[in-house]
Amino acid sequence: MSDPAQRGCYYTDAFSIAKRCFLKKRGTKKPSSPKIIPRSAHTVSRNDISNSALKVLYRLHKSGYQAFLVGGCVRDALLGLHPKDFDVATDATPEEVRALFDNCRLIGRRFRLAHVRFGREIIETATFRAAANHAADDAAHDDEGRIIRDNVYGSIEEDVWRRDFTCNALYYNIADFSIWDYTNGVNDIQQRQLVLIGDPDTRLREDPVRMLRAVRFAAKLDFTIVKSVEKSIRKHKDLLANVPAARLFDEFLKMFQAGAAEKTFDLLREHELFVQLFPATDQELNDDPAFAEFVRAALRNTDRRIAAGQSVTPMFLIGVFFWAPVKRLAEIRRSEEKMSESQALSLAAYELLGQQQRRISMPKRFTVPMREMLALQPRFENQRGKRAMNFLEHRRFRAAYDFMMLLSEAGQVDKATADFWTQVQKQSAVERARTFEVEKPAGNKRRRRRRRRRAPQ
Ligand code: ATP
Ligand code: MG
Repeated sequence: MSDPAQRGCYYTDAFSIAKRCFLKKRGTKKPSSPKIIPRSAHTVSRNDISNSALKVLYRLHKSGYQAFLVGGCVRDALLGLHPKDFDVATDATPEEVRALFDNCRLIGRRFRLAHVRFGREIIETATFRAAANHAADDAAHDDEGRIIRDNVYGSIEEDVWRRDFTCNALYYNIADFSIWDYTNGVNDIQQRQLVLIGDPDTRLREDPVRMLRAVRFAAKLDFTIVKSVEKSIRKHKDLLANVPAARLFDEFLKMFQAGAAEKTFDLLREHELFVQLFPATDQELNDDPAFAEFVRAALRNTDRRIAAGQSVTPMFLIGVFFWAPVKRLAEIRRSEEKMSESQALSLAAYELLGQQQRRISMPKRFTVPMREMLALQPRFENQRGKRAMNFLEHRRFRAAYDFMMLLSEAGQVDKATADFWTQVQKQSAVERARTFEVEKPAGNKRRRRRRRRRAPQ
């Protein structure tokens, strides 16, 4: 088999020939040729690539298929970052990929992808796909220009144009370790700029999530969003309202749990995208600078934890975003009806979640503990008696305590309260009883009645 780097876009098998005929009929634009950057002229080394990804690439290549690494892993490797996951693109169909690997599963109904599994690592292997943005293919877009069909196999020349940013459209060829660059992506990486492939208005209308991806990559990679894309975001930001709420939860996680949450937040606010995601929170941020400071402190803290390899939970961040609007609504509910502060907070969080879920649908496993964490906040004011002492044993105490500490750092809970709950956790049971002014068990007035054991018969 000739070297795929040299054979460029020659089609060697029956599948490819059929594919080409089909594409011709659809009037696809002529394949352009890539700039090929040889191994000696770039810094992506095989040491940057996981062994599992290398195995997939080599086996595909040895079997006569084109095999490339593509997307974030090539971009990150060029930037000297450590790629976390590896995506493979090939001209083999999903069924052909499955035939090569025992450890392979095909997923997706609309567009089939091959997942090749090595222990806990999954190498996503996708067949080249054609973009849906051909003028002749109106049926592939809805009224707002969103892609509704994107399931046509294509060649690498077409696969390129359906990708979002030029920095995400670089292909690392396992045949000779060169990088294929159709869109000037290497230059944009050097310039640290985010450039959308094609016309920004069309590309953002096709998939409004790309606006969030722009912000996420700008924050994570310290790139600038080029002016034309910025302008287009300003024009189309409202389209985010049409994105399915479930898809936005995934995006929310990627934006705020990738180590650059504070910067992402600032950029989302700057581009007026945050209001699309969390409208009630955005309102409070505008009204109350102290709340804005609290949110930023929490995001900074999240970034610090991620940098230190500690875990983070989305329920905590959702709670942070909810705090001010929930508190405001709780006060209103309390003025209408007699209830405790905790009950009002829980009720308000429930109401607000109802509205919020229409924007970003958040799973119950996060929202239920989040409501509890917020509703527990008034209990920190209570520092005497058994109920106060038992609070330390509450299953949500730790989360509620961390949340209260953040509030205290932002000047919203007094330092004495924060210190009290920090100190008391270090105390022995006897010391605690003294601190909370709880009588010792010996002094308990109520006597337990002993049950007499029945004598064995
Ligand atoms: P990350 O480091 O966050 O994984 P990534 O660039 O790899 O970044 P993925 O979401 O894993 O992002 O997507 C892999 C690749 O698929 C992207 O690099 C891009 O080429 C393409 N892609 C993903 N989402 C879109 C989209 N909404 N529109 C166009 N192309 C996309
Ligand atoms: Mg990725």
